Amino acid sequence: MKKPFDLDTMLGRIAEAVAAYPKAAMFDLYEQGYTSLFEQLISCIISIRTLDETSIPVSLRLFAKARTPEELLKLSPEELETLLYGSSYPGQKAYTMLGIAKTAVEQYNGQLPADYKVLTDLKGVGPKCANLALGIAAHLPAISVDIHVHRVVNRWGYIKASQPEKTLLQLELKVPQEQWIDINRLLMPFGKHICTGNLPKCSTCPVLEYCQQVGVTKHR
Ligand code: SF4
Repeated sequence: MKKPFDLDTMLGRIAEAVAAYPKAAMFDLYEQGYTSLFEQLISCIISIRTLDETSIPVSLRLFAKARTPEELLKLSPEELETLLYGSSYPGQKAYTMLGIAKTAVEQYNGQLPADYKVLTDLKGVGPKCANLALGIAAHLPAISVDIHVHRVVNRWGYIKASQPEKTLLQLELKVPQEQWIDINRLLMPFGKHICTGNLPKCSTCPVLEYCQQVGVTKHR
């Protein structure tokens, strides 16, 4: 018999459990001083289909050359692609980044506004990166649902959704706004290191007594 969900308690326990693991890439970069909306958006694009262990050094390599839209536009597509080497789809990402920088300079005087619609209208920017950048850089209430967040909350039985986009909509209805950024900050490392895709570590999980373990057939 499981306990009723108590998100406060669950997130508190998860915070303790993930303290020993590296922070998710964009939170790590924010703490290193890469705090602008542009930098956060660019680092999120770098992280698409790329492990944090790679996306953090690639972001740092790029930011050593260019941290603003104006600086990025001074790079040729080839130079940018070379800087992005290691991240997946570097050519496509270079093209996306140059488009973002061009829009930022031409339409917003180099400062992207903290506006979900403006960000998601940029070619190559989806809800996940827009929300994550807005939450971290602009401190706006925003939930970003990556594969880890999607898996964890569905396993809990907290929501039931087949795709991350649907998970996002359900979480926005259920989770108090003051906890939205914690959903990203905590459930990304929790999903990566504890509630893993294969063989989640249920036997030592700090929220086992609340989790309905939906779809979990084997675990550690
Ligand atoms: S009990 Fe297992 S399935 Fe549930 S959150 Fe913990 S690790 Fe994930």
